[in-house]
Amino acid sequence: MVKKERVFIPKPKSAFLSGTCVKCGTENVFYSNSAREVKCKQCGEILATNTGGRVELTDSLSQEIKRLDFA
Ligand SMILES: [Zn+2]
Repeated sequence: MVKKERVFIPKPKSAFLSGTCVKCGTENVFYSNSAREVKCKQCGEILATNTGGRVELTDSLSQEIKRLDFA
């Protein structure tokens, strides 16, 4: 039996992100740790998919992602 090593994984810093949909140019604000896929509020294009805790951005989202910090 392989003993599983306990690795401390720091909680990924969650943040609100802002990105533009390349299809319609609408700016969408979404949560980086969203439990669901992120859809464009305007055209419904999937901008990010959930990958178990953190979202993975799709090609439908512009490369320029702004990070909104609420400090
Ligand atoms: Zn869109």
